[in-house]
Amino acid sequence: MGALVTSVRQVSAVPELTVDLAAVAANTSRFVSWARGAVMAVVKADGFGHGLGDVARTAVAAGATRVGVTSLDEAVRVRESGVDVPVLSWLNPVDVDVRTAVRCGIDLSVPSLDHLAALHSGVRVHLQLDTGMARDGAAPESWLSLMSAARRAELAGRVSVVGVMGHLPCADTPGANESGTRALLRGVEMARQAGLKPSVRHLAATSAALTDPGTHLDVVRIGAGLVGIDPSGTTRLRPALRWTAPVVQVRRVAAGTGIGYGHAHVTERATTLALLPVGYADGLPRGASGRAEVWLAGRRRPVAGVISMDQAVVDVGDDVVVPGDEAVVFGPGDDGEPTVGDWARWAGTIPHEIVTGIGARVRRCVR
Ligand SMILES: *Cc1c(COP(=O)(O)O)cnc(C)c1O
Repeated sequence: MGALVTSVRQVSAVPELTVDLAAVAANTSRFVSWARGAVMAVVKADGFGHGLGDVARTAVAAGATRVGVTSLDEAVRVRESGVDVPVLSWLNPVDVDVRTAVRCGIDLSVPSLDHLAALHSGVRVHLQLDTGMARDGAAPESWLSLMSAARRAELAGRVSVVGVMGHLPCADTPGANESGTRALLRGVEMARQAGLKPSVRHLAATSAALTDPGTHLDVVRIGAGLVGIDPSGTTRLRPALRWTAPVVQVRRVAAGTGIGYGHAHVTERATTLALLPVGYADGLPRGASGRAEVWLAGRRRPVAGVISMDQAVVDVGDDVVVPGDEAVVFGPGDDGEPTVGDWARWAGTIPHEIVTGIGARVRRCVR
């Protein structure tokens, strides 16, 4: 087996995720100028892994006039980050803390009669209709009873209905939004007939916002697009993450050396291996093993063997790499480094899962 090459310089760096808020601002501006109505910045899941408060503040400064999240806890954190535009939380249990929502000025979605029954104190709500997902939102057969119950609750001062929302199941597919859009407009009409006066109708997320203006209505809810992900594949947005890791160890190995667990890769010839202190616990998808690459010493290099929980081995051939050298796991791709999209492809998933899966151990840094 190969000898350990001695460390020739101090390892100073640690794995680091850099968030480019200028990219978030630029992406936001594009949606603000394209959208027929307003832009709601969706910052759930820690702002798609980019930092909830940072993304919310940046998007609002760049023209988003609303913020959306799933849980009430996230909404409170948005408020605490200093954002003063309307904030909507759309995924909560029936016994959601209404008092906190009212105190922090947070709008809640109403996806069912049970949710509605638990609301009080005049909380602002958006009726959440299932427009084709069979997931969250009220099923069409319940809309009529939901609308009239909402009107009664409004007259009793328990809620104030300000919006009606839906979500599109197949927005990445051109021409697939018609039935969802019709459903939402039918729901809005039913709400008005029940005496409600919702002023914001919203349906589109990133894909539909980019490809189908007919879905824009009053507000588009943009999450992935803010951080540079375009699920529709039609638009070049600016990726906002760069993930680096220092080489912590280098060794020369002979031909026929099995690398890592299960010896999933065996070297064909003598080569140099560089060890990175990042693994699947940090969000490197183990399923990308055998295909993944990182940028190191001026070019892309294959990750050799199976990605471990805490570490990954990179094959640099006969090139010189020393401990302390910086590898780029992914970045915007401007210099040839792998992108989040590459990692998603190697792992058989979507970019959203990569950016929301970076572990807590990776140091965050904002610029
Ligand atoms: C996550 C989410 C969005 C944002 O979707 P993107 O495709 O990331 O823009 C919009 N609406 C709802 C209901 C969501 O859950």
